[in-house]
Order: sequence, then structure tokens, then C-alpha cells
Amino acid sequence: MDSRKLKLGHLYSRQLNLYGDIGNVTTLKKRCEWRGIEIEIDNINLGDKITGHDIYFIGGGQDRQQVEVAFELQKHKEFLADEMNSGCVFLGICGGYQLFGEYYQPHNADRLPGISLLDAYTIAGSKRFIGNVTAKTNFVTPDTLVGFENHSGLTYLRGETKPLATVTTGYGNNGEDKTEGGRYKNVFGTYLHGSFLPKNPHFADYLIKLALEKKYGESELTPLDDKIEFDAHAKAIGRVY
Ligand code: GLN
Repeated sequence: MDSRKLKLGHLYSRQLNLYGDIGNVTTLKKRCEWRGIEIEIDNINLGDKITGHDIYFIGGGQDRQQVEVAFELQKHKEFLADEMNSGCVFLGICGGYQLFGEYYQPHNADRLPGISLLDAYTIAGSKRFIGNVTAKTNFVTPDTLVGFENHSGLTYLRGETKPLATVTTGYGNNGEDKTEGGRYKNVFGTYLHGSFLPKNPHFADYLIKLALEKKYGESELTPLDDKIEFDAHAKAIGRVY
């Protein structure tokens, strides 16, 4: 048994869990447990206090669910910024990703405040971007990420917040600048549902390594047999629908 332990805070899964985004939490959990690394999953619901975790996850959802979560997150904005600055890992999918930015402006509704972990903003567009996405990144091997997008939000990155990847199939952040997702420090956002991590095991391990490095100063992970995962990854590359 590995003596290392991680704590994951799953933010507002009752509101933001579109397209099986909970599969990302399951992937991180299993890839730790398969290696004998204990991982505690805390479901954080509306009204709950948020205490320290090594990894935070938030999924996607419709504009309506984002409203409740946006105002709840404001209560924890400073705490979560401190967690970011201490090196904690964050993964936000689609609607959750949008709330990592400065704001999300839905159609015909009041602007939703974000928690500004990412220097980014989102404006609802007139077209829904729906379909498979393949994107190239420069910090994991293989250098591809695959998933499924379904959003009308157009996200634009600024300052130190850099893209997670460059879209080769699909729309990504806004269908214009070929960027997909965003990253600042150990905060990651992406439009890739699917859910995202099961077909991108290399990225899941990258997040686990970042969390272990921050907590223990080392991030050695025993290799896993990922043939099935990478077969699924390969089949998704370049797929349009
Ligand atoms: N409501 C947001 C949009 O449509 C996010 C959707 C989602 O999380 N899939 O852009």
C-alpha cells in the first residue's frame, strides 16, 4: 500500500454534472486506488463550508444550474484563490470552467460572476457548439486530448491564462482562435465532456502527479495497463460526429 493520500473536493455535483462529468472524479479515484494511493472524495454541496483539498473538480451544466453555483462560489472566492496559489489542482468542465473565469454572460440574463482563478471571460454565442473535439497540447504525451463539446458560451483567455490545447477538430473555446480550455498554475478548464478523463488517462495522471508533487514533493506513479483507455482515445481522434 502506498502511504500517500489525496483529498478531492467535488464541487456542486447536484447542479453541475452534465454528460456524466462525474466520470472524471471516478477516473481520478480509480487511477489512485489501482496504485494503492488512498483518495478521499468529498461531495461539496450548496451551503457547505469548503475545507482544504488537494484536487477540486467541478462539472458542467445548463445556464440555470450555473446561476445557483455562481453565487455560491462567490462565498468561497478568496479561499479558493488561496488554494490555487498554494498549488492545489483544479479541473473545471464547460459550465464549471466558465465559472473559473471573471464572468459568464448568458443569453438574455444577468451576468454571472466567476471566481477569477483563470483570467478569462465567457459570453453566450448565437450558435451551440456540439460535437467531438480533438486538440493538441504541449505538456502531456501523447499530445492529443479528445472529448465531446456542447456549449453556446464563447470563452476568451487573457494575460497569464494560456490555452490547454489547440483544436484540430471541433470548436473549442470560441470557434475563432483555435484554443481549447485554459490553464493558470494548476488550474485547468476545458470544454471537453465525455466524460473527459476516461479517454485521456495521460492527462488524468498528469493531474494526479501535480497533486502528489504539491503535497509530497515527489510524484512517482507506477504505470498502469491503459490499452483499453488509449484504444478508446485513438478511436476518438479526428472523429467529427
Ligand atoms: N451553459 C453553458 C453553455 O451553454 C455551459 C454548458 C455546459 O456545461 N455543457 O455554454
